[in-house]
Amino acid sequence: MAEVKNKKAVLRHYVKGFAKESDFEVVTSETIHLKVPEGSNAVLVKNLYLSCDPFMRSRMTKHDEPSYVPDFVPGSVITGLGVVKVVDSENSNYAPGDLFWGLTRWEEYSLIENPELLLGIKHEDLPLSCYTGVLGVTGLTAGAGFYEVCSPKKDDRLFVSAASGAVGQLVGQLAKLMGCYVVGSAGSDEKVELLKGKLGFDEAFNYKKEPDLKAALKRYFPEGIDIYFENVGGAMLDAVLANMRLNGRIAVCGMISQYNLEKPEGVHNLTYVITKRIRMQGFLVSDYIYKYPEYEDRLAQYIKEGKINYMEDVAEGLECAPAALLGLFTGCNIGKQLVVVSHE
Ligand code: NAP
Repeated sequence: MAEVKNKKAVLRHYVKGFAKESDFEVVTSETIHLKVPEGSNAVLVKNLYLSCDPFMRSRMTKHDEPSYVPDFVPGSVITGLGVVKVVDSENSNYAPGDLFWGLTRWEEYSLIENPELLLGIKHEDLPLSCYTGVLGVTGLTAGAGFYEVCSPKKDDRLFVSAASGAVGQLVGQLAKLMGCYVVGSAGSDEKVELLKGKLGFDEAFNYKKEPDLKAALKRYFPEGIDIYFENVGGAMLDAVLANMRLNGRIAVCGMISQYNLEKPEGVHNLTYVITKRIRMQGFLVSDYIYKYPEYEDRLAQYIKEGKINYMEDVAEGLECAPAALLGLFTGCNIGKQLVVVSHE
């Protein structure tokens, strides 16, 4: 029976403030048999691709109240989304070599206790890594957030922050396909050029170079913003609120600027929600799981037809996983950040 030393990424301790690489440890731990325990319903998988997601930062902090996802347990392997290949199973639904995506762990091999929660790979003609992003949770977040929460229509003026990131790149392109005027913000000139070039945004700006965000938005939206797809929070949200149009919509997807702060910043311009009759709605991708097959197919089709460009940022090796995850909070990534654990 084959045996391997299983490498894994572990959270050392709970984190307050900005997370650091030293909060993690990548260890080669116990020897495991590449065989499921006899009579078990579990499936043994090899982890191929892991997804880096901003919400994982929240799980690194100990919460007094239960959150929508449980806190990580220090000393335990990190859990997250990924693409896996079955190595062994006693269940006829899972044969060695079968590919799935879903909740797994940041290690080379995982014993998945609830394999029925894994989802199949439908669009095999697209790169498998797409299932960490555009054909997985990222795509559903962008699709459901844009179509279901923003109530978009042709000619709407849409602003999206963290626009060159995994979700942002898709939201901007979906809005362009609908005939919206689309502006994105990002944290470097290189990202701004990609947004205006490869991704086809109408305009983009580097928020780090704008001393007055409210004035910057006024420049791109002289008549105001109909839709704001919120990914960052903080000062950007205040600047947007001041620039919204009457009856505008704000889809609150995330507030990444706040995730490493011990005390969140306040929002000062909320009275505009009243005077401009803004609908501001938070959402969780899990609210729209029932829409997954629809968005998986729609986004796959758009990619195959060349209607959207999809960018990935690929880190090679489990050792790089902590740095790749933390890079989301300093804007290191362009497009979807993922980690390759194994190419096969
Ligand atoms: P991402 O955009 O690929 O990566 C995060 C990006 O955020 C970075 O590249 C960086 O780009 C930007 N950023 C980091 N710190 C920032 C700061 N202090 N101020 C402004 N921008 C900052 O990540 P993603 O997976 O697509 O997630 C985007 C947002 O969606 C996150 O807020 C996430 O929590 C949220 N989300 C929500 C759901 C849901 O169910 N509601 C699901 C998935 C994701 P720059 O170079 O532009 O700074």
